[in-house]
Amino acid sequence: MADDAPILLQAQDLARHYAVSQGLFKPKAVVKALDGVSFTLKRGRTLAVVGESGCGKSTLARQLTLIEAPSAGSLQIAGLDVATAAKSELKGLRRQVQMVFQNPFASLNPRRTIAATLDEPLLLNTSLGKAERLERIEALAAKVGLRSEHLRRYPHMFSGGQRQRIAIARAMILNPGIVVADEPVSALDLSIQAQILNLFMDLQAEFQTGYVFISHNLSVVEHVADELMVMYLGRAVEIGDKKAIYARPLHPYTQALMSATPALRAADRRQRIVIRGELPSPLNPPSGCAFHKRCPQAEARCAMEQPLLRAVEGRQLACYLVG
Ligand code: SF4
Repeated sequence: MADDAPILLQAQDLARHYAVSQGLFKPKAVVKALDGVSFTLKRGRTLAVVGESGCGKSTLARQLTLIEAPSAGSLQIAGLDVATAAKSELKGLRRQVQMVFQNPFASLNPRRTIAATLDEPLLLNTSLGKAERLERIEALAAKVGLRSEHLRRYPHMFSGGQRQRIAIARAMILNPGIVVADEPVSALDLSIQAQILNLFMDLQAEFQTGYVFISHNLSVVEHVADELMVMYLGRAVEIGDKKAIYARPLHPYTQALMSATPALRAADRRQRIVIRGELPSPLNPPSGCAFHKRCPQAEARCAMEQPLLRAVEGRQLACYLVG
């Protein structure tokens, strides 16, 4: 897909803060689960969002799928600002952004056949007649690798991989512009993961869907991503072209994540960089660079001031040491 592909989604300084009770008579604390994230997603492209659990990836997914409203910043989907869109426009936007969850079993209704599961979005959102709906369901089921007799069955009658195929079909049935996939293969066996990743890519090639692909696993996103956004404690620390970042990660946190990712080819193996300690509590984030207590390259000023994202070597980077 050429770089002049239309922009589907644009986030600018997107933030989501939560007030958290600290007990009786104590003032509420503010958790900055997402703290000023900006990026663009184009038609037919995949933005992979990576980071440890608790870095804000799932909070971001809830903002993008309009499950929650952002506390600050702006989110434009298909050129419409979510904050100022009319109710009817929001309904259209919700159709445009669909989600695939980590656990396909929990996300499918156990009492509904697969046909009924795939029919529901069509019934609610289109004026198609029964025969047309069935035609669309059967066509999409075939594309995700399900046979027509599968449509009469219930979710418990399928393996994990097949259930995820059903969940993907449900997300794609309205032909959305954007799919947000939150750890879509991490509950699956390694042998099935590659099949599901290939399915995502095949569907994207056919429908030009834009994906936001959320994962803690850099080896999972390597083959599907066009752009990569590495997040740490609610903020993006490195954003750019996937190939460039995999070839030469610049942020110490990205370097550490990459060094912990198994590589098949000996030439691709990196020297392991061990990050000290755990991800800090977002209730009490460190001063300065949020990574400084774990960063092997931290220096004195890292503890004092938060580095902002700036352009370095064709990407966006938040670190004092580089560039
Ligand atoms: Fe490490 Fe300092 Fe860069 Fe933060 S700003 S990643 S602490 S070197």
